[in-house]
Amino acid sequence: MGLLSDERWQVFLDATIGGDEELLSLREQAEEDDVPIIRRECEFFMNWLFGTIRPRRVLEIGTAIGYSSLYIWKVACRESCLITTIEMDEKRADQAEANFKKYGATEAISLLRGDATLLLADLKDQYDLIFLDAAKGQYITMLPDIKRLLTEGGVLLCDNILVENDTLRSRYALERRDRTIHKRMRQFLDEICRDKDLITDILPIGDGISVSTKCRTAASGSQS
Ligand code: SAH
Ligand code: MG
Repeated sequence: MGLLSDERWQVFLDATIGGDEELLSLREQAEEDDVPIIRRECEFFMNWLFGTIRPRRVLEIGTAIGYSSLYIWKVACRESCLITTIEMDEKRADQAEANFKKYGATEAISLLRGDATLLLADLKDQYDLIFLDAAKGQYITMLPDIKRLLTEGGVLLCDNILVENDTLRSRYALERRDRTIHKRMRQFLDEICRDKDLITDILPIGDGISVSTKCRTAASGSQS
């Protein structure tokens, strides 16, 4: 990270942007239990992005214990969005439900239990913002459904696209077991960067994020 250490950067961001501490105890619980929730600097970016776009309908893939859903709803969207979130791990889904209750979010956040690679096909609604934060080797598989579910002008935000910097390395520098994720993540990034329907950027925030806007068609563009 240039001349500064990552740690110095984190401290600087925390001190300068700071922000809402309402969910601090939930963050601490997740960190204690080794649940991989969004990093603080990703959270700051989401606060800006969601606060600017003000999405009404949000789809999240990868709920874990509900930290990012609650952050999106309570902090970034100022309690003005509806979220559908998908989690396949039963125990984490139970914890997420309990946390949604605890923070008064049960009317705004609905949890779907199951494998998103299967569940996405059944979804019919469209979403202004989709946050993809699930198994990294499956991003590419989910992309066609995600594109279908995104409104024109809608935004797809993906977390962990750098896979702890593995994505930047040559596949030969990686352990054999990490090569499949590496290959699929590279394919996914190539795809979202080349897709004519998407405008994409990749940013070194947290574990790396990508952000893509689904282009408006000429017809819908001329109306606005
Ligand atoms: N977004 C959360 C963290 C999610 S961690 C936060 O920042 O607070 C990733 C989660 O995705 C894990 O709990 C894992 O069980 C879930 N997951 C991975 N692949 C999935 C899939 N195909 N369908 C549903 N959930 C999935
Ligand atoms: Mg993540």
